[in-house]
Amino acid sequence: MMNGSINVVAGRATPSYIIDGEALTVIDVCFPSDAKNIIDYVRNRMHRPIDDIKLVVLTHSHIDHVNGVDYLVKKTNTRLAAHARAVKYLAGKKAIRLPGICQIFRFIGFFFSNGLPRPSLTDTFTMPWAGIPGIRKRIRTRVAYRLKDGDTLPGCPGWLVYHTPGHTDDSICLYNSEMKALISGDFLVNLKDRLCLAPLLRLDEAATRKSFQKLKRLEVSRVYPGWGRPVRGEALLDKVIGG
Ligand SMILES: [Zn+2]
Repeated sequence: MMNGSINVVAGRATPSYIIDGEALTVIDVCFPSDAKNIIDYVRNRMHRPIDDIKLVVLTHSHIDHVNGVDYLVKKTNTRLAAHARAVKYLAGKKAIRLPGICQIFRFIGFFFSNGLPRPSLTDTFTMPWAGIPGIRKRIRTRVAYRLKDGDTLPGCPGWLVYHTPGHTDDSICLYNSEMKALISGDFLVNLKDRLCLAPLLRLDEAATRKSFQKLKRLEVSRVYPGWGRPVRGEALLDKVIGG
């Protein structure tokens, strides 16, 4: 397996990714039970000690990407990284903006056609329910690394941070030029094997367009989306639906 390769751990809603580099870097943790699956995956599939997980990165602060973080940190001692703008949401100091009514209907439609998140009973009672638009709920873990556009992921050489506001103002994508790989969060999602530009929610349409123009300068032949399976192919960003 090449250095920097990406492992996919399917979640109860959104997938998590593990970058296998100098250390292990986990991207997004939906529910506590997903954190448990990540730990099992590292031990049993990668045959690595869980202490090799040094960093967990959040692509943005929505509920389906953050609620397993406290569990993962508690079990592994990993540190947390997110965009600087995510800090106030994760700390419960500010609520993520509510979507408009049309977007809420789009949101409901999305879940009906793509399957609802399925928290376990334990998840339901133990997770902090953070990252819900309009509601302040906090993740206990402190953000150790406040990421900004152009940063290299700490301990993960070759992976650059792109701040891509639009879906939320704290959204980031992670890009590796050698692998031509993009971990996109919900900025891009895979619906029925087609990549779509933030089809679920665009809290800022103009920012979404601007961020996408920035990404389109990158050569991308693998996308690891916020929802759905990874997609491979040449010039993937030229074929994005709604782009
Ligand atoms: Zn989202």
